[in-house]
Amino acid sequence: MVFKNRHQDRRGDKNPRAKFSESDAAYIISEIAKGRQQNSLAKELGVSQPTISDICRGHSWKHLARPWKAERADATRRKTMTPARRKRVLSVTGGCCAACGADVTNASWVADHILPLELSGADEFSNLQALCVPCNKLKTAVDARDIGKMRRRAKKDSEPRKESGLKSRGFSKALKKKFDGTVVRR
Ligand SMILES: [Zn+2]
Repeated sequence: MVFKNRHQDRRGDKNPRAKFSESDAAYIISEIAKGRQQNSLAKELGVSQPTISDICRGHSWKHLARPWKAERADATRRKTMTPARRKRVLSVTGGCCAACGADVTNASWVADHILPLELSGADEFSNLQALCVPCNKLKTAVDARDIGKMRRRAKKDSEPRKESGLKSRGFSKALKKKFDGTVVRR
């Protein structure tokens, strides 16, 4: 049982009571950051809404970053996704997923930023689309890859270009190595 080793790391999925893997928890956090409803996520993952709420509020998975905590300082970036705004986003595609066309009027769907905010996409209706849950999962993965690429590029650009200290001086043409291993002048 777990009574021994009280000091062991029990964060996240090392916790024997964890309901999710770390990547699941990260997915939940990214979805909530996008304005996804806790109930809809709970339904997708087959857990209770309070479980999702615990993750959002940092009661579980404390070590994962909550993007909205950083964003609160810059509240103009992301407007609150009110039911009225969601309704308007969905009306653009006539109640269907913008990617696969599935009717989502009676299903879970996500208001997705076509160009992610992290990639300087606007928080406007022209940059919002309704996505069904599977399409959104794919899009989130693609967005995460693009954002990672952008961050790595930005980091590289901000660092001074390092001059390599190890410069090859090439082979000396004045010397040659004989078959027996001795080096002699040409
Ligand atoms: Zn879809």
